[in-house]
Amino acid sequence: MNHDNRCRVTKTLLETLLAVVVFTGCAAAQNDPAWTEPFPPFHIAGNLYYVGSKGLANYLIATPQGHILINSDLEANVPLIRASVEKLGFKFTDIRILLISHAHWDHDAGSAMIKQLTGAKYMVMDADVPVVESGGKSDFQYGSAPANLYPPTKVDRVLHDGDEVKLGDAVLVAHLTPGHTKGCTTWTMKVSEGGQMRNVVIVGSPNVNPGYKLAGNTLYPRIAEDYDRTFRVLNSLPCDYFLGAHGNYFDMETKYARFKEGVPTAFIDPDGYQKYVAEREQAFRTELARQRAAPAP
Ligand SMILES: [Zn+2]
Repeated sequence: MNHDNRCRVTKTLLETLLAVVVFTGCAAAQNDPAWTEPFPPFHIAGNLYYVGSKGLANYLIATPQGHILINSDLEANVPLIRASVEKLGFKFTDIRILLISHAHWDHDAGSAMIKQLTGAKYMVMDADVPVVESGGKSDFQYGSAPANLYPPTKVDRVLHDGDEVKLGDAVLVAHLTPGHTKGCTTWTMKVSEGGQMRNVVIVGSPNVNPGYKLAGNTLYPRIAEDYDRTFRVLNSLPCDYFLGAHGNYFDMETKYARFKEGVPTAFIDPDGYQKYVAEREQAFRTELARQRAAPAP
C-alpha cells in the first residue's frame, strides 16, 4: 500500500469515526441544514402567519397595534424571518413582542438581534429565563457546549404558567410544558376562520433529546415528572390547528403542498395532533423505562 492510499484509508477511517461521534454523541447539538433553508411565508388562519424556515418554525401574529413573533431561531435566520414578514406585507419593525417555544439556541439565539432591530419586549417562561439571560450557559444539558451558546438576552417580562400575552385583538396563552427545557412553553390562541372560532396549539417540544438523563439527573432532578406534566397538559388542550416549534412536528411540508393545491384547511388536524402527542408520550415512556432498567453510570 503506498503512502497516498494509506492516507486515504486513514482519512476515511477518521471521517467514519467522526461521523460516529457526531451521530451518537451530540446529534442534537448539530445544526440541521434545513434550519437555515428558506421557506415561503404563508397565512395560516385569522391573524396568524408562518414566517419560519424549512426546519425552524416562526409565527407572526399581526395586529393593527403591532405584531407578536414566536421564536428568533439562530442569528443566521433573522434576515430570513425579516424577509418573510416583509413578503407578507408587514413591517418587521412593527414587532412589539418576542416569544419563544423554549430556551434552546435554535429557537432563541437570534433574540438579542431581534430586540435590537425592533425594540420588541422579550417575554419568557420563568424557568427558561436564567438560560436565556445566560446565553445558554445555565442549560442543564448544553450549557457547556460552546456551539450551543448565544448572546445573553435580557427578558422584559417573566411569564408564568397560564399567563396571557395580549396585543391589540390578539391573546396568546402560555402553557408550561417542561422537560425538554425547564420552561418549555406551548402557546395556544383562538383564530376566527370562515366564521368559526378555532383552537391553535403551537407545541413547545415533547422530545427527549439524545443524551438526556431521565433518571438520576442531578442538574434536573424532576425531569421525568416534568415530562409527565407536559403530556397531561398536551393531552388536555383542544386543538384544531396543530403547529409546533419545528415544521416536522406537524408534517408542515406535506400540509403546505396540500394548502398550495387549494386546501385552505390543510393545517387543521386534530387527529394528527392526538396521534403525535400519543406517539411522543410512548417514546418518552419507553426511554424512561430503558434508563431505569439500565441507569447511566
Ligand atoms: Zn429544543
